[in-house]
Amino acid sequence: MTSVKKGIIMGMANKFSIACGISESLKDNGADLIFLVQTEYFKEKISEMAKNFSNNEIFVCDVIQDGAIEKTFDEIFEKFGPIDFIVHSIAFSDKNELQGKYLNTSRANFLNTMNISCYSFTEVCKNAQKIMPNGGSVLCLTYYGSEKVVPNYNVMAIAKAALESSVRYLANDLGEFGIRVNAISAGPIKTLAASGVGEFSKILEYDRNRSPLKRNVTQKDIADACVFLLSNMSAGITGEIIHVDCGCNTIGVNF
Ligand code: NAD
Repeated sequence: MTSVKKGIIMGMANKFSIACGISESLKDNGADLIFLVQTEYFKEKISEMAKNFSNNEIFVCDVIQDGAIEKTFDEIFEKFGPIDFIVHSIAFSDKNELQGKYLNTSRANFLNTMNISCYSFTEVCKNAQKIMPNGGSVLCLTYYGSEKVVPNYNVMAIAKAALESSVRYLANDLGEFGIRVNAISAGPIKTLAASGVGEFSKILEYDRNRSPLKRNVTQKDIADACVFLLSNMSAGITGEIIHVDCGCNTIGVNF
């Protein structure tokens, strides 16, 4: 029996978001959810969807704003008390630099990509300690492009490599407080963020044809693995990058 209680979901933009799939699986396993979205626009956009969940409160938290994560987590703690898990399902880069050569990445977009897609997770973990006095599980999403070259993934790959390394360091820092930190390395799935990556349909096609399971990963594949990592079923696992990609990382990508 899994046990997922009360948690925060960051990064729901629409029904295609990986965060949406994760929320559905968490709901099926009895969790209460609190949503954090980037802007008022997204708050409005997901408000109907959020009504399907038992705790449908939505907070706006643009992770690039200084102090936004701390302020929002403080508000949540005051209103809901201790939290058991947090899902960070957030990434951003200028789509003009998610095509062609990595070599042409600008300093401004490099820093912005790292800030939103990597540093924000460290800030989440730092503030998790306050809202998880009884311990808990924190999770982020990464992609195989951090390990091997995937055409067009470029600066996002560098941010994901840093994110994965952060997972290990953060797991080490937070272990003594009973807080586990892990990542799911998800196979490609069509979402708003993914549509910014050049030739994304080729990546999907490549994976579908070459993966050991001969199909693309689904939102539910990823979501169910997240539930495992967020629940007490994975109590002894921390600092790990778990691949949920129909086995694609075992064969690599080279189209
Ligand atoms: P998505 O576009 O649905 O979600 C990305 C989210 O990041 C959006 O909700 C967006 O609002 C949020 N975001 C961006 N900048 C933000 C900011 N400044 N403050 C707060 N939120 C911000 O796309 P997705 O594919 O569901 O992405 C979720 C995560 O999964 C990302 O980390 C992504 O890199 C990762 N991932 C995606 C795939 C894929 O193929 N789709 C594969 C592996 C990993």
